[in-house]
Amino acid sequence: MLTFCSPAQQTHAPMLELVNGKAEEHAETPARLANMLAQMGAVREPADFGLAAIHAVHDPAYVAFLQTAHADWLAAGREGDAIGYAFPVRGRRPLDLERIDGRLGQYGFDTVTPIAAGTWAAAYGAAQSALAAVEAVASGEARHAFALCRPPGHHAGADYFGGYCYLNNAAIAARAAAARGLGPVAVLDVDYHHGNGTQDIFREDGSVFFASIHADPRTDFPYFWGHADERGAGDGEGATFNQPLPRGTGWQDYERALGKALDAIAAFGAKTLVVSYGADTFADDPITQFALTTEDMQLMGAMIGAAGLPTITVMEGGYNVAALGRNVAAFIAGLESA
Ligand SMILES: [Zn+2]
Repeated sequence: MLTFCSPAQQTHAPMLELVNGKAEEHAETPARLANMLAQMGAVREPADFGLAAIHAVHDPAYVAFLQTAHADWLAAGREGDAIGYAFPVRGRRPLDLERIDGRLGQYGFDTVTPIAAGTWAAAYGAAQSALAAVEAVASGEARHAFALCRPPGHHAGADYFGGYCYLNNAAIAARAAAARGLGPVAVLDVDYHHGNGTQDIFREDGSVFFASIHADPRTDFPYFWGHADERGAGDGEGATFNQPLPRGTGWQDYERALGKALDAIAAFGAKTLVVSYGADTFADDPITQFALTTEDMQLMGAMIGAAGLPTITVMEGGYNVAALGRNVAAFIAGLESA
């Protein structure tokens, strides 16, 4: 599998997240990437495609905030990672605030997504990896390409960060693929968690189909998105397809849901597939509650490959570091077997 990864992606190293009532070691570590790279063989460094494709998805004011947030934090006399502590409740008017603490609340939605010294460089590098994967498929160099993104992206919206995500690599890839003539594009999100950012970005956009299989948000992060009755709006009505599944879900039920998602993608008429792949559906993941095995990851890849579409996969979550590279390799082996 032609795989892209930028060395800058290692520079993001948040220390702590505030979760479960205490400050815990951050789950989204550079060790994740190291474990995946060890299983990958050769990976290619992406070219620099610039900010244009990022601005095609994200509000430029939000991107500018991300670029300087950590420096602004230090300038306010703080040390360590920037973490917000005050968030506007629903219905508060939009404000352009000066103080870094206000801006962290303005653009963030949780306390588990610190902005560290290397965050912008890593998020930018991950987005470039996704764009390089698109370019490889668009140019005909490869039918499938893999962007080994870190930090992940699917929880980031057009103007917000959260869920360990800052730039939405899948959405950036989908927009870029459409711009390169690969549309219509479908995004299939198979991370354990709902891809709320991707859903929000394409909510009113009927040109991109979004299908997600994830833990029921009644019990799991991100709680406020991903319910079965969210189907898109306006021009995007019907182009969002959510399948929340209960904790403990194993391959038999997962396979059925994946079949339905792929049927819906075929019915939409997608010509290109962007997959948000998270290995946190793994039974032994420390922060999630599904029951898939490494062998199931291969079956998942094979089913997706059998859809027969040019496929750009971007890496999302997966927090069992020791098993991560193995699970990714199994998924890729399945995808390539089709
Ligand atoms: Zn996840």
